[in-house]
Amino acid sequence: MNMNRKKIAFESALIVLALVAAFLVQLVISHTRPPKMPDFDREDELAEKQVVTTTAPIPKEESWNTQQVAEVSNIPAIFNPHVSSLGIEPDWTSLDVYQEKITKKAFREMLTKVYVKGEFWRRWFYFSDKHVDILTSAGDLSQSYRLHFKIDDGVSSMDTAPRYWRSKEQLNELGDLDSDLQPLKGIRIVIDPGHIGGAYAQMEERNFILSEEFPPVQEGNMTMIVAEMLQRQLETLGAKVSLTRVSNAPVNPNEVEDYLPYAQSKLEQNGAIRSQMTVTKEAERLFYRNGEIRARADEVNRVMKPDVVLCVHFNASAQPDPDTPILEDNEHFHVLVNGAYTESELAHDDERYQCVLRILQEIHTEELRLAKHLVDSFVEETQLPAYEYNYNSKRAVNLGDSPFIWGRNLLANRIFTCPVIFLEPYLMNGADSFYRMQAGGYQGLRFVNGKLRPSIYKEYTDAVVKGLVSYYTIEDDSVVEVIESAQGLDAELRSAEVEQVEANHSPEEEVQ
Ligand SMILES: [Zn+2]
Repeated sequence: MNMNRKKIAFESALIVLALVAAFLVQLVISHTRPPKMPDFDREDELAEKQVVTTTAPIPKEESWNTQQVAEVSNIPAIFNPHVSSLGIEPDWTSLDVYQEKITKKAFREMLTKVYVKGEFWRRWFYFSDKHVDILTSAGDLSQSYRLHFKIDDGVSSMDTAPRYWRSKEQLNELGDLDSDLQPLKGIRIVIDPGHIGGAYAQMEERNFILSEEFPPVQEGNMTMIVAEMLQRQLETLGAKVSLTRVSNAPVNPNEVEDYLPYAQSKLEQNGAIRSQMTVTKEAERLFYRNGEIRARADEVNRVMKPDVVLCVHFNASAQPDPDTPILEDNEHFHVLVNGAYTESELAHDDERYQCVLRILQEIHTEELRLAKHLVDSFVEETQLPAYEYNYNSKRAVNLGDSPFIWGRNLLANRIFTCPVIFLEPYLMNGADSFYRMQAGGYQGLRFVNGKLRPSIYKEYTDAVVKGLVSYYTIEDDSVVEVIESAQGLDAELRSAEVEQVEANHSPEEEVQ
């Protein structure tokens, strides 16, 4: 008994000693650490920028590749004329998983009616009955990738391609979309609030100033307001919603200065250096546009893996004289999906790869079906007429037999590897919308510009939500025939030789 007590006392003393020793060691370590650097907010700021709001963890699917999005913080040392700005050479063997997944007919229709207007695809794609050889390197035309077609057995190959996003039919099969209260249950939606806004609005030229009388209208701030409203509403309806940015600050981890060497190299190769100012301007564009969108794409494709991305924008028309801003009476609305690669875009190895990847994942079919529902709800909510590009435009193709739906090859709708819908309602310099934007957000209805109406943000949000619910809940939404998409092409063929630059009344120049 006595021995036992002694033993316990001894062991207790040992434990206390060990604790004291550990404490002393800890103390020594903490004193030998280098002093903390003053806090420049930079790291916190970055950490905050990269916070992504998701309501539920998204399962990882490894069966598909993500290599086409480069490490965003690695800026190529020199400009490569065979890829898009800041792009990298793609790994074509990553398309191996799509062997024999698509019929020749489906591939060729998509290529020639949605993605390419004109015949210049023939320089890169060589069809035979069973396969197509795609030239993989503009720098070495002897290299190609052979894609074997699926035998046309009359069964749609829709939904068999490896991809992280799910079509409406796949979501329905999972039984996720069956609740009356939560019609969007389970669907993963990413909202991309276009541009950066805030302190960057001026640099990114999304900052409309009518006069000193009014505060500037900043697109990036307004898209953020809409994105947050959308997130709340869509989550209430059961969707899992993420935003590509959560404040009016860049997601891009780099600074403008980091792009100077690449900008210098790009302008040198294009023979376009006029002054240090042009290099700085180019570096800024690379920072806020290409670099920023690539950083967002990295999150979208590697982490968020949504079923659809909605790119929220407000449009603006060109000012006849930038020194005396005026308001535009004729406002409009249109929806953009990926399409209409130009000759020089298709000549870029990465863009050609991404075009093929979108064809193989049959992304367009999903985009077009959803776009139609969104158009209907926007027309109903906003009564805005269609913005129609010149039907002979080389960089826009009319799609889905709707004057509201256009294909254009923008960086975001190309490199987010899932269905992407760009929304372009209202004009920041519109005679009606400008005053609604000045009125800001408010509850209920108010008289603005002589009409009793909801806030412009509420109207925008309602239109998106109604369009999404309509698309995902209507049972028999017949698959849109690709052939419908050929409207623009037909128009082009009717007056094939009309060479026309886009009218100066052109929506945002978001091509890179
Ligand atoms: Zn925009």
